[in-house]
Amino acid sequence: MIHDLAVIGGGPAGVAGALTAALAGLRVVLLDGGPRLGGQYFRHAHGAEPEPRFARQSHALRRRAEVLLKHQVWAVSREDDAFTVHAHGAMHGHGTARAEVRARRVLIATGAHDRPLPFPGWDLPGVLTAGGAQALLKGERVLAGRRIAVAGTGPFLLPVAAGLAGAGAEVAGVFEASGGLGLGRHPIMALGKAGEAAGYAWALAARRVPYRRNHAVIAAHGEHELRAVTVARLDRDWNVLGTEELECDALAVGYGFVPQIELAVQLGCLTRPDTDGTPVVDVDARQRTSVPGVWAAGEPTGVGGWELSETEGRVAGLAIAAAGEVPGLLLRRRARLRAFAAALQGAYPVRPGWQSWLAQDTLICRCEEVPLARVREAQELGATDARSIKLLARPGMGWCQGRMCGYALACLAGEPQQPPRRPIAQPISLGALAEPPQKEH
Ligand SMILES: Cc1cc2nc3c(=O)[nH]c(=O)nc-3n(C[C@H](O)[C@H](O)[C@H](O)COP(=O)(O)OP(=O)(O)OC[C@H]3O[C@@H](n4cnc5c(N)ncnc54)[C@H](O)[C@@H]3O)c2cc1C
Repeated sequence: MIHDLAVIGGGPAGVAGALTAALAGLRVVLLDGGPRLGGQYFRHAHGAEPEPRFARQSHALRRRAEVLLKHQVWAVSREDDAFTVHAHGAMHGHGTARAEVRARRVLIATGAHDRPLPFPGWDLPGVLTAGGAQALLKGERVLAGRRIAVAGTGPFLLPVAAGLAGAGAEVAGVFEASGGLGLGRHPIMALGKAGEAAGYAWALAARRVPYRRNHAVIAAHGEHELRAVTVARLDRDWNVLGTEELECDALAVGYGFVPQIELAVQLGCLTRPDTDGTPVVDVDARQRTSVPGVWAAGEPTGVGGWELSETEGRVAGLAIAAAGEVPGLLLRRRARLRAFAAALQGAYPVRPGWQSWLAQDTLICRCEEVPLARVREAQELGATDARSIKLLARPGMGWCQGRMCGYALACLAGEPQQPPRRPIAQPISLGALAEPPQKEH
């Protein structure tokens, strides 16, 4: 069977896009690697109801479209007038198998992943990304530790710290590397988020959690697991002005997000650098990519929060179904949310001083255990860009394929981050790859 539309990703963007297109009469299939719809923002534990509005949307979607959960999409190919979505997915009660889905159009709504920066000890058990600590809590009801430090940059640190504190962890401090006013520089834009931010600030203040700007965790200590971190006071460029040690058994750290655009790059969609230089999928006013038949919505087109993702999903759904003009109200809402996203990225940039936190033996790539010294050696041998460093020293060649170290490596090479070229978008075993597809939807 050929569907009218295959949507990849079941977060706010994918669900809104799929439901809008299904309501307009299209035969829609949605695939997501996770066990439940919701993506990152509406992630919820097994048995728990998601936020009511999203619950209504996802129930409506399940009635009108085919929803394939636990299906990791590792490639999308094109033959003549249709696309084949290649996934590795759960069979009903029979383990996993390769699956193929055919559709005339594709909507890529694959969200983003955390952007970590390396520092001495970041490979110790107990050090997690901020999104990882949040996902453990929201999806599994598990606290990452008893006494947790939260560090990095951006407003995302606040819900993470408030969530951990609310669930009973002792939050030893929130360390925001950026200084200045943050979004306070854009009071009108920040207005819409003021209530949310005040809620987090109140939750943290009520539990006497210290919130310190111009501070970062620059080293993690412990023999077999995390025991303490070094917290540094920073100047404007994130160079260290002074340090102190803080005991904790977990650290949640994040420096923004990286859009997941592998599938769009595989298909040949054009990309552009976002406000902060991160490659994102280039789309037109109707969320169309440069490749006919392929749309993108949500964080692959730029990180901007769940409301922007959902709005883009709805615009894409209407455009794909060719359901008349996209309402002006929706387009104005998208423009306002995009302006807010750009202001947010401008308010929390990653400053170059983080490179001074590294020692020669600090691992840059944890999968292949490549320390800074090997990266520098490759540069001395003549490697002038991230790709040649990778060929000489192997950073980014391991299991995560550079998702964790790609940004840092680009910074160390002194070049903008390049769009990820991964012919297999998600890790999949060679055995699974060699199997013939077991089911076709
Ligand atoms: C780890 C993390 C945690 C976050 N937590 C919060 C939070 O608590 N509060 C907040 O305001 N914002 C949070 N954000 C920001 C958040 O991503 C957005 O605001 C919002 O969820 C974006 O919606 P989206 O639909 O664009 O993407 P997402 O919500 O990320 O949804 C994308 C979906 O695509 C699926 N997917 C991706 N690749 C594939 C593939 N190859 N095959 C199959 N499925 C795939 C994922 O499983 C996911 O369900 C978080 C971001 C990250 C990365």
